[in-house]
Amino acid sequence: MAAAESAGADWVHVDVMDGHFVPNLTFGPKMVKDLRRATTLPVDVHLMIERPEDWVERYADAGATYVTFHVEATPRVSWTVEKIRRRGARPGLTANPDTPLERLLPHLGELELVLVMSVQPGFGGQAFLPGSLERVAAVRAALDRGGLAAELVVDGGVKPENCRAVWEAGASVLVAGSAVYLDPEGTAAAIAKFRKALGP
Ligand code: ZN
Repeated sequence: MAAAESAGADWVHVDVMDGHFVPNLTFGPKMVKDLRRATTLPVDVHLMIERPEDWVERYADAGATYVTFHVEATPRVSWTVEKIRRRGARPGLTANPDTPLERLLPHLGELELVLVMSVQPGFGGQAFLPGSLERVAAVRAALDRGGLAAELVVDGGVKPENCRAVWEAGASVLVAGSAVYLDPEGTAAAIAKFRKALGP
């Protein structure tokens, strides 16, 4: 994370997986708390977990700037959004690539962030799914129609080669994991490739 920060990363994105909502297990609130202490960048926590309503306050307390959860993971979306906001974090919502956007769009006015998944959640290193650009553009159009300023985050398979198209489709934040951390030329070179592709 320090390498990414010194190379000019704008945010830190933390993928929290619970082994239930997705078949993989990653970090918990303690990791978020430790990351929060180690950086001044916004910490964007993406919860790929069941029953997010039981957990969002712990991530807000750990210092998450944004707490994003999945629309599929709880029937109580608006209530969970409100819980995040009341605890002092900025609420975000996302949906799996095969979930109709109609489940996301009615909540846009409640959110500070909307995340478009461009891979199936659960594992790093996957290829950007075709069809994701159309979903980004549809969410961008809905935000603009509503005069809404929520961040539009795109997460999954974003690389220097496709980031320009994702940006032009309407993303305001690009999440990159493998493309940054597994670049053979190193983290700083990877971030420079993104900056170059996106232009001045
Ligand atoms: Zn993520």
